[in-house]
Amino acid sequence: MNHRVAIVGAGVSGLTCGVVFAERGYRTAIFAKESGRQTTSAAAAALWFPYDVEPVNKVIPWALETFQTAIDLARAPESGISMIELRQFARTKKIEIPDWAIPLGARALIQREVENKATSEATTLEKPDVEPTANERTTSSVSFKSGFSLRVPLMDTSIYLDYLAKRFLAAGGLIPENVRFEKLEDVDPKFDLVINCAGIGARELVHDFDLEPHRGQVAIVPRIKDLPYAVVCDDAPLMYAIPRRNDCVFGGTNDSSDDLAVDSETTARIVAECSRVLNIEKTNVVAERVGLRPYRKSGVRLERAHLRDGRGLVHNYGHGGSGLTLSWGCAAEVLRLGTTCG
Ligand SMILES: Cc1cc2nc3c(=O)[nH]c(=O)nc-3n(C[C@H](O)[C@H](O)[C@H](O)COP(=O)(O)OP(=O)(O)OC[C@H]3O[C@@H](n4cnc5c(N)ncnc54)[C@H](O)[C@@H]3O)c2cc1C
Repeated sequence: MNHRVAIVGAGVSGLTCGVVFAERGYRTAIFAKESGRQTTSAAAAALWFPYDVEPVNKVIPWALETFQTAIDLARAPESGISMIELRQFARTKKIEIPDWAIPLGARALIQREVENKATSEATTLEKPDVEPTANERTTSSVSFKSGFSLRVPLMDTSIYLDYLAKRFLAAGGLIPENVRFEKLEDVDPKFDLVINCAGIGARELVHDFDLEPHRGQVAIVPRIKDLPYAVVCDDAPLMYAIPRRNDCVFGGTNDSSDDLAVDSETTARIVAECSRVLNIEKTNVVAERVGLRPYRKSGVRLERAHLRDGRGLVHNYGHGGSGLTLSWGCAAEVLRLGTTCG
């Protein structure tokens, strides 16, 4: 209980660790060059589902622990978490339901749910700002081959990151703004335990060149009426439509690149494919976001270490496309490792 804890990073990993430490009475501060909405975490939609992350044997237990916590949080509307049906599709083959999903209630979609279109009714845009022109109307039909359905937590990052920050501050945590470190030893020596939640920033911060930026771009569009579930297809071209409380997230991309600039042609392609799949008229785009998934080739780095000056250190980064999905499971392990640190 004597530790003073410094967390580097204010994305979902840093904020969740912050809540876990501060609510147990540790004097905790979160330092970051960007926080909340400027982070990669804010670009995520974000559905609970393990994706683009290694290693499976560790990822699934962390994900399942997060699943249980997220179910509890979904009872509090201010958290921004709700439960939603995820319909996961394959374009050409029979989709495999992962073993871990079966006890969670996953079921294969019946043919009627798969064919024609991803939605059971033609979806309509809720009060679109711009009426589509006649030649923008979609004509093609969807050709998914199979799919499965599973109820999962949806962590609306436009609400959830602020919720975590508020919970952290209410527990006595501090978030000094705009702090960029060249190296972890630069953290004020009054903190005897440092938690590294720097996401893709760990490449420079701890010279971890095992990290690879997996660039993702999304388009935020107005809410879509009659779309009660999330539609996801990981087969190329990657496509997802995730309805949230106030809007809908259309995606997506996954390329090895660290270009943070929005590409308008990519947005147009995303909107065209989502509109085609959902069988809706093309919608206007409210916002575009780009984020770099912190994919680590050798897997999430969650381990205890020491700074060169002897202080305790726990690394918690490299969550790839699953940072929200793993957040509570990883934070619990960080707490275990950090509080038994010499
Ligand atoms: C388009 C897209 C969609 C996604 N969808 C999902 C999804 O549906 N579900 C899901 O679970 N995941 C999803 N992800 C992945 C998820 O967003 C990431 O895994 C997650 O955001 C990683 O969180 P983090 O807190 O580890 O890193 P980040 O959110 O990147 O935060 C890193 C923090 O470290 C700080 N930092 C870095 N370097 C330094 C430094 N030198 N000094 C000080 N501060 C520093 C940054 O400023 C920032 O505050 C998606 C990602 C993208 C891009």
